[in-house]
Formats: sequence, structure tokens, C-alpha cells
Amino acid sequence: MKENLVILGSTGSIGTNTLEVVSKHTDKYKVFALSAHSSVDLLLSQCQEFEPNFVHISDSIHLKRIKTSLEKLNLSTQIISGSSELNELVANEKVDTVVCGISGSAGLESSLQAVKSGKKILLANKEPLVMCGSLFMEMAAKYKSKILPVDSEHNALHQCFSKNENKLISKIILTASGGPFLNTPLKEFKNITLPEALKHPTWVMGPKISIDSATMMNKGLEIIEAMHLFSFKAKQIEVMIHPQSVVHSMVCYGDGSIIAQLSQNDMKIPISYCLGWPKRINSGVGSLNLINQPPLNFLEVSKDRYPCFFLAKNVAEEGDSLPIVMNAANEIAVEAFLNGKVKFKNIHSVIEDVITSHNKQKIRSIEDVFEIDKISRNDAMDQLKRYN
Ligand code: MG
Repeated sequence: MKENLVILGSTGSIGTNTLEVVSKHTDKYKVFALSAHSSVDLLLSQCQEFEPNFVHISDSIHLKRIKTSLEKLNLSTQIISGSSELNELVANEKVDTVVCGISGSAGLESSLQAVKSGKKILLANKEPLVMCGSLFMEMAAKYKSKILPVDSEHNALHQCFSKNENKLISKIILTASGGPFLNTPLKEFKNITLPEALKHPTWVMGPKISIDSATMMNKGLEIIEAMHLFSFKAKQIEVMIHPQSVVHSMVCYGDGSIIAQLSQNDMKIPISYCLGWPKRINSGVGSLNLINQPPLNFLEVSKDRYPCFFLAKNVAEEGDSLPIVMNAANEIAVEAFLNGKVKFKNIHSVIEDVITSHNKQKIRSIEDVFEIDKISRNDAMDQLKRYN
């Protein structure tokens, strides 16, 4: 029997890499459904190649065009739109595995549905863990949903854990490339442009996560992600800059050993690890050539250079509602930067303002999460006006 996959965000970088891996293992996996936001042409060519049972498009304006094109291609794929329809699709009893590749809080609802439906989940978006990590992991345990991390650092950690010795872990080390501004003089930060910020030195990623890598907010979000995924306290998680992005993360054991995972920077590696787990399958990516590799460096994270990271580190330690507030403010601030409405160096100021004006509270339900998220977004929009 083939494993039936639903790929959420099929036209994004996680989605396209997943399909590349799947195309090498069509004896093991069947693409049951694809979901995308608005990249119709790519979605159609994916339908032609993988012939899914369902295709979902979140922007219903494209429905008619997809329908006509699929008819021309003689495909029996059913087309749906709308968020409740997507939830139904994810919950379909024929579905075994859901690849959650929709970035930002837009991917939260469908990820929650996948957990509630007890599916195996390849989690690529951080928001379910950042916004409601405790609730998400409690639900996963309750509904017996297996969560496998696609995020390269967490995937590396998953690979470094030892089945019977995890109690002996003293700390984990997340590595960070340092992004495009690792060596930029601090006095030039005020002039950083969008193309410069989008140009990640070692990974090719979507715009939001590229900016999060440039500010290193991404690594702060990853601390929160790791805390929930693997039940660690913020203090047990260390972050090091590793400009070569060869070591993707490390686990330190009480006996003095450090176990690291090394590989090329290609998301097909963590994706195939998760798809095949507990076995390994071929990703189509070769091993690193260590002889030709430049020397590997590990550096401390600088407070002056990456204020967003230290903000996020504090938020991770404080917990409760703060990660939701920070995540919402960051999404708004980054979007404003992408649209040329705020300067790079002010992304941090907007987030800090929103956090400062919030009164920390306990999170008891998903409704609390959505409520705080909404309030924080509105607050971030207000704060943004001060920096225009
Ligand atoms: Mg990552």
C-alpha cells in the first residue's frame, strides 16, 4: 500500500522539494492532494505530473481557470477552495501524511486539523509550535499524531538523538548561518535594502524566512520550536553562528560527547528523512565533499548585530502569551519591510514596542491564541505608523 500524502503549500520551496523527493519514490508515495495559494501555473504542472485526487486553491478567484485547464488535460482531479474544505481534506480518512509547508500563521489552522486527525505530520512551518506549542504537542499526544520536523536544525537534532540515551543530554546547539549581514559594518545597517536582505548566503528560501534569517529572528523562533518539539527548557538551548552551514545542529551528552549532523544545504535531505522515517530513503542529494570543504567556524551571536534574536531568546524564556505577540508583530513588521514601508533596522523596534505594550497572560485554548494574535497584529500596525 502506498502512503497517501497531502502537500500544503505545494508551490512553495518545501512543497516543490517534497514533490522532487516523491517523484523518485512513486512506488512508496501517492500524492493524494495538493494545496496552493495562487501560483496557478506551477500548481497545474504539478497536477499533470502527480495526478492528485484533489487540488485545493486558497484564492478562489483562480477556481475557474484551474477547472478548465484540468478538463483540457483530461484529469479527474477534484478542485476545491475555502478553509473548511481544506480542513475536511486534511482529515480525510484516506490521508496518511500531511506535509505542512504553508509559511506564516496562515498554515496554523490546517496543521491543527492534521494533528486532530491523528496524521503523520511533516512540519515545516514554525507557527504551530511558536504560537501554541504546548497545546499543539498535547493534541499530538492525545490524537496519536506523529510530528516530524522538516526545519533543518530540528531535523538535524532528531537525527542526533539516541533512542535510549536522551535523558543524558546536557544541552542542544542550534547553528545559524548569521545571514547576509554577518560581516556588514554596524554603521551600514541603517541603509540595508530589500535585495540585500533577501540574499541569503547559504540557503534558498521564501522571502519571509529570508528576512527572519537576516534579523536572526528565525533562530529565536527555532529556540521556541525546539523547546516544544523535544521538551527542552530555553536555558538548555545554545545558538552558535556557523557561517558555512555545514553542521545543521548538535546534541551534547553528559559524557562530554557532541553529536552533529552534517550535510549539504538542501531541504530534500530533511524532507526525505521525515518521509521515510523510521527508515531512510534516498533524497537524490549527494554527501558533502569534506576534503574540498572550507574550514568550519563557530562564533558567538553578537547582541548589537542581532537584537531580534535576543528579544526572541527572552521571549522563549518568559513564555505564556509572549511568543504569540512576538510572532504576530514580526510577521507584520517583516511584511512592511518587504513592501518598503519600514526600514530593516526598525523591524526590531516595532516588535519590541508591541511586546512592551502587552500584558503577559496564560494561554488556555486555541481561541486565546487567535485572540492575542489578532490584537498584536493590530498593535503592530499602529506601531508601524511611528516609523514611516
Ligand atoms: Mg531552520
